Amino acid sequence: MGQRVAVLGAGPMGLAAAYELTKAGHSVTLYERDQRIGGMSASFDFDGMKIERYYHFICATDQTLFDYLEEFGISDKLRWRETKMGFFYRGRLYRWGTPLALLRFPGLDLVSKIRYAVHIMHVKRITDWRALDRVPVTEWLQRWIGRRAYDTLWRPLFHYKFYEYRDALSAAWLGTRIRRVALSRKNMFVERLGYLKGGSDTLLDAIEEKLRALGCRICLDAQITRVVSQDSTVKGVQVYGKFVPYDRVVSTIPLPYLTRLMPDGPADERRKIEAIRNIGVVCVCLKLRHPFSENFWTNINDPAIAIPGLVEYSNLAPLPSTVIYAPYYMPQTHEKYGRPMEAFIEETVGYLQRMRPDFDRTDILAANAFRYEFAQTVCTPRFFEQLPPMQSACRGLFVADTSHYYPEDRSISESMRIGKRLAGLVGGSHA
Ligand SMILES: Cc1cc2nc3c(=O)[nH]c(=O)nc-3n(C[C@H](O)[C@H](O)[C@H](O)COP(=O)(O)OP(=O)(O)OC[C@H]3O[C@@H](n4cnc5c(N)ncnc54)[C@H](O)[C@@H]3O)c2cc1C
Repeated sequence: MGQRVAVLGAGPMGLAAAYELTKAGHSVTLYERDQRIGGMSASFDFDGMKIERYYHFICATDQTLFDYLEEFGISDKLRWRETKMGFFYRGRLYRWGTPLALLRFPGLDLVSKIRYAVHIMHVKRITDWRALDRVPVTEWLQRWIGRRAYDTLWRPLFHYKFYEYRDALSAAWLGTRIRRVALSRKNMFVERLGYLKGGSDTLLDAIEEKLRALGCRICLDAQITRVVSQDSTVKGVQVYGKFVPYDRVVSTIPLPYLTRLMPDGPADERRKIEAIRNIGVVCVCLKLRHPFSENFWTNINDPAIAIPGLVEYSNLAPLPSTVIYAPYYMPQTHEKYGRPMEAFIEETVGYLQRMRPDFDRTDILAANAFRYEFAQTVCTPRFFEQLPPMQSACRGLFVADTSHYYPEDRSISESMRIGKRLAGLVGGSHA
């Protein structure tokens, strides 16, 4: 018989969980704190153009996403495009991402270049990540490519994303990221990435339509303030100042929020969650009159620029104007994190002028920026052991967030895969 299920969070994970549970005959209510569904993949109106708050590209390995696109009848919206990469290194922009670009790059000696290429080829073939789960990323990279290449290629990327946690990452986490992008290439010479025509909204609209047709209730502006339990059994949730009873609660909100909603939750799980570190992001989005570069992605290693890269999204998805994202990842404790958005936008404009001294700020048609508190988990060595179980010791409670797809990195596809798995656990559970 169907259960009364509350799903918390309407990002891709919550949407997929709610969809699977509704399809399986449960009576599902999906609660979302925001005024819109989508979480990190939601869009905004950028001066007349609908676009994601954070850039999204698709890789050839995103199988769960492809399966859902097929199921929703929107596979025809998936597009692939040959993309280019750049590397802004000490004041100059170089090509990146092809064997020829690597050979021509002035920042490395030939031996380092060969070691770098061999490392990428090695990572492409790894399928079992358990051994690398125990290895610190810095040690792993320096062993494969040498200290100099690490300092040139990886150190600045880690520094400007993780700051004090830059040496605390697991090799497995980075390895799956390298593999995901490497396996998406058409061949050694051509990088190829995917996008959805209409952006992530195309997926979100389709899943919302299915959910409503199946009878799932979607409550927006509905912040859950408490997950209520008694005798280690979930009883329901507190929302809009009222208690609402449920047989099962599925939480897909960032784990640190969940511990605040369950001060009386299982102590062991709480300890695990509190030990996991996350970093936030402020992502600047600029709309320009003219293209800035030919690259979709530009890595940066420059003494005057404190971000790891720039994403010129319009070089992946054709858009009426050029759109550039500049992500400022950092721990929430960083002095910059709480600055007003204008400060991030101004800093980005300065970087564009540094990268292209001819860049004229009158080229900017619109600017915006968004902050997300828990944007990236810091996946440390032995992270498998650190994750709290998806089926809580509190009966009837099922829990996951983006850290649960470790060693895979954040993606819409992975969130949907875990959402489906959560739904499967609910289906297999007994009160
Ligand atoms: C800068 C950036 C770039 C990215 N690039 C890519 C990319 O190129 N490709 C890709 O596939 N993925 C990318 N991602 C990752 C992708 O967006 C996420 O992995 C995915 O959207 C996460 O979905 P989720 O449902 O697991 O979590 P979230 O999207 O975080 O959803 C959680 C939801 O819970 C809600 N919530 C929180 N607290 C409560 C509460 N108390 N009550 C009710 N609701 C609550 C939140 O409002 C949110 O909607 C990127 C993310 C960022 C930030």
